[in-house]
Amino acid sequence: MLTTADLPPDDAVPDRCGTCTACLDACPSAAFEGPYALDARRCVAYLTIEHRGPIPDEFHAPIGDWLFGCDVCQEVCPWNRHAPPARQTVPATPPPPPEALVAMTDAEFRERFRGSPLKRARRAGLARNAAIVLGNRRRSAS
Ligand code: SF4
Repeated sequence: MLTTADLPPDDAVPDRCGTCTACLDACPSAAFEGPYALDARRCVAYLTIEHRGPIPDEFHAPIGDWLFGCDVCQEVCPWNRHAPPARQTVPATPPPPPEALVAMTDAEFRERFRGSPLKRARRAGLARNAAIVLGNRRRSAS
């Protein structure tokens, strides 16, 4: 919504992080430039979901085994221990193995992921992510 109304600003969000740097330290792709400063272009969640086209080589290793998104900074945040469980709106079904995602046709993709958030990455994006994961697995096995 665009408006010319003269609205009072909200209060500043309180700083509850203190000296904690858990998210900065744990981020696999060094996406944080510093406290409160995230370079989304380096974030595995952005790269594997929103980014279109090839993912630069420097991010292949940080992607590790993540096929779609990354939750590391959320998992390590001490405040999230107090968060109530999210309400599941779509039944969680595990994605097919990366080998199957690489070979999936458009029709199979539409059928398999109808109503699923994984559709956001589109078929080409999930196939790209799957190829990176397979490469990472092969490298770590050798
Ligand atoms: S989602 Fe993952 S890659 Fe993105 S900022 Fe958080 S830890 Fe880093």
